[in-house]
Amino acid sequence: MLSKLDNLDILFSRYIRLRDLRCLECKVPGYDNSDGERILGLECSHYHIRSKMSVRFYPDNTDTFCHFCHGYYEENPEEYKKFKIRQLGLERFKELELRASTMMRLDPVKVRLEIRKLINNLE
Ligand SMILES: [Zn+2]
Repeated sequence: MLSKLDNLDILFSRYIRLRDLRCLECKVPGYDNSDGERILGLECSHYHIRSKMSVRFYPDNTDTFCHFCHGYYEENPEEYKKFKIRQLGLERFKELELRASTMMRLDPVKVRLEIRKLINNLE
């Protein structure tokens, strides 16, 4: 059985991949799933690990990569840090660091609604 958090992870990963539609590093696009969403072959990467609840469902903490680039950044955290600073700019990167170091309890119902809203706003 999937937990509530697992289900939110699946929904959030879908959102991030729909947001980006390609690997943000090598630019390879996703391909269609059975719903015609171009997200297959892509993975949702967390810069700060998912056990940090304050950034588990935080768009600035998450990126779409292909399997290869995801593995590369997992093994090279200093390179991932440079990528994030290039991507977000120093101010937003600092905000992300601050948020990641903040304790936060999540309300799964509220998080689900927020992710749904993000998905709807893509259309
Ligand atoms: Zn890639």
